[in-house]
Amino acid sequence: MKSLLSWLIPGGFVLALALALALGFGPEGLLEKVGGGYPWLLFIAVALLAGFFHRSRVVLIVLGLCGLHVVFSQGVGGFTGFFLGGGLLALSMGLLALSQDRSVFSTAGLYQLAAFLVVFSFGWLFIVVAPGDMASFLALMPLPARVTVWSGLPQPVFLAFAFSVPTALTVAVLRDGPVERAGFWSLLMVAFALYFSTDPGSVGVFLMGAALTVGLSVVETSYAMAYKDDLTGLPARRALMRDLEGIGGTYSLAMVDVDHFKKFNDRYGHDVGDQVLRMVAARLAKAPGGGRAYRYGGEEFTILFPGKPLKEALPHLKEARRSVEDAAFTLRSWRRPRKKPVDPGAWRGREKEKTKRLSVTVSIGVADSAGNDPSPEAVLRRADQALYRAKKAGRNRVAK
Ligand code: GH3
Ligand code: MG
Ligand code: MG
Repeated sequence: MKSLLSWLIPGGFVLALALALALGFGPEGLLEKVGGGYPWLLFIAVALLAGFFHRSRVVLIVLGLCGLHVVFSQGVGGFTGFFLGGGLLALSMGLLALSQDRSVFSTAGLYQLAAFLVVFSFGWLFIVVAPGDMASFLALMPLPARVTVWSGLPQPVFLAFAFSVPTALTVAVLRDGPVERAGFWSLLMVAFALYFSTDPGSVGVFLMGAALTVGLSVVETSYAMAYKDDLTGLPARRALMRDLEGIGGTYSLAMVDVDHFKKFNDRYGHDVGDQVLRMVAARLAKAPGGGRAYRYGGEEFTILFPGKPLKEALPHLKEARRSVEDAAFTLRSWRRPRKKPVDPGAWRGREKEKTKRLSVTVSIGVADSAGNDPSPEAVLRRADQALYRAKKAGRNRVAK
């Protein structure tokens, strides 16, 4: 359900809105006002936003949308120019889907920009110098007419979309990111802009919808990044604080701390320490009983059990503790620490040895919202005190 919504919002929603306007469901005159207004204001705003967040692909898509809008509104090459530009944009968006976002002014970002500008300048040049040839190019029909006639697109343009739409969709499914999903939706909106080419208001609305969608995806990505921990992929402390703010009724909260983690780092290096953290995070993320794991910071994690009193959360935490202990973290001897380990002896003579089993354990302290102070701060504090007791009692255990 949640993943379906993240697919449809905002891209699918914007597309539906633009389509409703184009089909005449909006208030009288709105389509012309929106589509014929100042789309380039939106293009500039989105391009600046995307550049600021190092989303080179979004910058290029918006440049392409802007270029296509200029071609359309200035009548460069008439419909031939518009369809040729749309086909080129579709092709570029398919290729961009396969590439990565860069910083706009990095070498890779500038290469992307250069390739993009070359493609479009040549398109522009051809349409100005040899409009007749371009028209006959677009009139090519390698496929039977009935295959493409419903799309309202010349066959070469249709083929560009036939490559790009499935590509963008596949990438969006595989990478599962907001920018990738937006790329797919905005590609569809470019197709609709071409389909409605006889109606200037609709063309404007679809191209703006496409720009809006990719722009929103930039914002969405940044928001998601702020709530996610980079190293482990778990929700970060900020997400915990947000979830605790809205929590009511009964809940339990556990603080989890890796035992003797400092020794791990000192002995095997920071890289191995990071691997251990990822392993622990992966185990805790699968915490049973509806527990939600967060990275609190450093080697400390939090598990939140909404709706569960301490008594019910306890067995699940014991299982989570055991699952970490059973994970049997293996150290591969070729994975040497990037920084010089404090104790080089820990590595010497390990070359022949294939793997070494390290035991990783965690201590857990748990508290619930029952009691005289049910505020999240107080529950967190009580869980911390319980964790301290678990450590004192000998580690690798759950205390309440
Ligand atoms: P205890 O059993 O009492 O918890 O011992 P400990 O060594 O785990 O406790 P302590 O809090 O002294 O050490 C935590 C260490 O975690 C200190 C720091 O070097 C390490 N650490 C914190 N964040 C990270 C991280 O992101 N990556 C790695 N590799 N180490 C981290
Ligand atoms: Mg600690
Ligand atoms: Mg620790």
